[in-house]
Amino acid sequence: MTVTQERPLTYAKMRGLLSFFSALLKGKKVGFSQFLHKLVSSQQLCQHLDPQKIIERQRRWRREREEKDTERQVNTETSQMKPSDFDYLKVIGKGSFGKVLLAKDRKHGGYYAVKVLQKQMIVKRKEQRHVMVERSVLMKGLQHPFLVGLHFSFQTSNMLYFVLDYVNGGELFYHLQREGSFPEPRAAFYAAEMLMALGYLHSLDIVYRDLKPENILLDSGGHVMLTDFGLCKEGVATGGIMHTFCGTPEYLAPEVLQGQPYSPAVDWWGLGTVLFEMLYGMPPFYSRNTAEMFENILHAPLQLRIGVSDAARSLLEGLLQKDVKNRLGGSDNLLELQDHSFFASINWDDLLAKKIKPLFIPNVTGPCDVSYIDPEFTLLPVPGSVNERCKAGGTSEAFPGFSFMNPVEYVSFEPVS
Ligand code: ATP
Ligand code: MG
Repeated sequence: MTVTQERPLTYAKMRGLLSFFSALLKGKKVGFSQFLHKLVSSQQLCQHLDPQKIIERQRRWRREREEKDTERQVNTETSQMKPSDFDYLKVIGKGSFGKVLLAKDRKHGGYYAVKVLQKQMIVKRKEQRHVMVERSVLMKGLQHPFLVGLHFSFQTSNMLYFVLDYVNGGELFYHLQREGSFPEPRAAFYAAEMLMALGYLHSLDIVYRDLKPENILLDSGGHVMLTDFGLCKEGVATGGIMHTFCGTPEYLAPEVLQGQPYSPAVDWWGLGTVLFEMLYGMPPFYSRNTAEMFENILHAPLQLRIGVSDAARSLLEGLLQKDVKNRLGGSDNLLELQDHSFFASINWDDLLAKKIKPLFIPNVTGPCDVSYIDPEFTLLPVPGSVNERCKAGGTSEAFPGFSFMNPVEYVSFEPVS
């Protein structure tokens, strides 16, 4: 996942803009649209800005202010979180830079998924910036029913720790592999929950970009939870992926593969690939030969075999348009997607309120049940290094200010179970 970037404003331009804003607003109570109208009708500024950019800038300022406020709320307790506050019970996942472990808070008893990353590996691959982006994205206090929440982050001299909600219904991928494909109503339900989570991220100017079955988890009630906030894969975030990319590209949008600038529409492509896989049992454009798969994603026409409804086919065709301009929801129009006939049976308010009963409910006995986690992970020994006996808050120049405590934790630091 990444955050949309804008070209930087020079200091001089910023100063000019600020004085323009304050002059305009001084003494007058103008509505925002009036204000914008005045702004864009200014010849001087018209040359440099359009209303969309102004709105985006406003949003950015607001974000920066909110971020500062959140940071201000973080008290010294934050830096006191340390690895030994947790008992590490099982390995539950592996990522590019480290492991994800099921851990129990020793003092309060709650269960968490702790993502432990090795600083050395991140620095070696020059991914520090993206880790910090992930942290800043997570610490915005993302609160959405279908997004994994961050409780704390802290660091020792060798490791970074993200303490997340533990989601134990298993990866969507795990269930999909076992069942081959999902019936349409079940696929529509998951796609609808993902749609809402992605739409929420877009509203915060965040592009998830890495939608794929391994990053989509089910909670114990059978609802979708997106995890993995933005450790950009090697090469992907820096563009020029064709040269540096060494993973498999099946879920990546054509514009990302080509290293072109991307917009939130990459996530609608991602949703299309996941929906395709839920319905057909394999990703679109798949080939065992990676080079051929690249080629297929970029140039081959989408093939939709029979066996799925017209509504599903039409949605897949809309989402899997190679040209962003023709892609459904391409202008970041969530409504266009929600209104699609494939989602006709979804009541969006009920969906968000988790009032729609999932068609599949994981059979878990409690918050520390790991029966839906692949034994490939759970059978791995818990590495002793995660419990580094370093004093908390050991910082490194590469990751200053990494530590975080979700403000909610101050109010009620209650056990999950
Ligand atoms: P990659 O970049 O390879 O996708 P990553 O380093 O970004 O991996 P994640 O995707 O965040 O790491 O986590 C790796 C795996 O750990 C996930 O695919 C999932 O199976 C598991 N996992 C991650 N977060 C959680 C969580 N909150 N609860 C349960 N399992 C989790
Ligand atoms: Mg991942």
